[in-house]
Amino acid sequence: MADCLFCGIAAGVIPSTKVYEDDQILAFRDINPQGPVHVLFIPKKHIGSALDITAENSAVIAHIFEVAAQVARDEGIAADGYRLVSNIGEYGQQSVHHLHLHMIGGRQMSWPPG
Ligand code: 5GP
Ligand code: ZN
Repeated sequence: MADCLFCGIAAGVIPSTKVYEDDQILAFRDINPQGPVHVLFIPKKHIGSALDITAENSAVIAHIFEVAAQVARDEGIAADGYRLVSNIGEYGQQSVHHLHLHMIGGRQMSWPPG
């Protein structure tokens, strides 16, 4: 999608520190990490947010969660636990309108979030 930051990162036009990549998804380090580990998982094909998940595109979401479990092990945060979150819309404070899953770990989380 034109003028989409994460489409640019998925295409390699905008540089990122990649953690995992295949033909469907990309995982890369957040530019403003909120913990010792902060990885973003995106579908390469543009999906605006979790509100836009349908029966036609949901397979890539399952794939993201499957890969995220392996990345958590590889990053050394699986045993202690971590947070997976996807922000949606204004109240969810989504700032990049290309669906992404945040993986934040390496520190104790609190609940509820701010
Ligand atoms: P949101 O606020 O939409 O849930 O999350 C967007 C995330 O993208 C933020 O955590 C922000 O730090 C990250 N981000 C924004 N621009 C860039 C960028 O150019 N590169 C990387 N690696 N992360 C970015
Ligand atoms: Zn996009």
